[in-house]
Amino acid sequence: MRKENLVKIYFIGAGAGDPDLLTVKALKIIKKADVIIYAGSLVNGKIIDKYAQADAKIYNSAKMNLDQVCQLYLKHRKKEGIVARIHTGDTSLYSAIQEQMRWCDMQGIEYAVIPGVSSFCAASAALKQELTLPGLSQTVIITRISGKTKVPAREDLKHLANIKAVMIIFLSIGHIDRVVKKLMAEYKSKTPVAVVYKASWPDEIIIKGTLDTIADKVKKQKIGRQALIIIGEALNKKKFKLSKLYDKNFSTMFRRGEIKK
Ligand code: SAH
Repeated sequence: MRKENLVKIYFIGAGAGDPDLLTVKALKIIKKADVIIYAGSLVNGKIIDKYAQADAKIYNSAKMNLDQVCQLYLKHRKKEGIVARIHTGDTSLYSAIQEQMRWCDMQGIEYAVIPGVSSFCAASAALKQELTLPGLSQTVIITRISGKTKVPAREDLKHLANIKAVMIIFLSIGHIDRVVKKLMAEYKSKTPVAVVYKASWPDEIIIKGTLDTIADKVKKQKIGRQALIIIGEALNKKKFKLSKLYDKNFSTMFRRGEIKK
């Protein structure tokens, strides 16, 4: 379909919460946007307060359905300008942007996607944790437990747990007992687990435990949403091997090692 509209929509990943985690690109677009539609359930409102133009039209999509959001795109399509559609974290994970982009494709509305700092990156930073530690794990699985949105059976937590990689579980903190039960099938009960609530927000909470203690700790803190569960031996920072990247005896394309191998 020929693109006839003047408006351009930017689907923006606004980072995990701290407005300073916006990318420069996202910031530039938000500052000049004529229309801002933001996912108010998770996006930090301070981003809008701080950076939106005084006369920008602002909409909170938290109470809208897909059709209502798309109607806003239609409403503004004939006007010259920029629509910033702001989602939390990064756009590639659980952001529900694909259905909006498909709708824009059908309508011939132009758009671009600006990636952001996902909450799992902010949570790893809060934990001061590299997720891919030599000797412990070189794989990170990003997943969730089945809720209203069903997870395909082959991706069930108990199957993924079989790999014993580092696993980051989104959208599941309210089901912590079910999560632990499925993970127990494969991970040892003493495997380290961290829960990070509101990573990068001022009221961030970090809970550390093991698979057999984490559920009680989470319940004690009454954390029921906006948190990630991270499991894996890599969280046990003591046992990993040094990297090859900085190994003094290892040569790379940029550096010759001291001992030739
Ligand atoms: N696109 C987002 C994920 C949106 S789905 C991203 O890349 O982060 C919403 C889920 O993300 C929440 O249920 C929670 O599991 C996680 N989440 C979002 N922001 C978070 C934060 N600041 N701290 C911890 N978890 C967060």
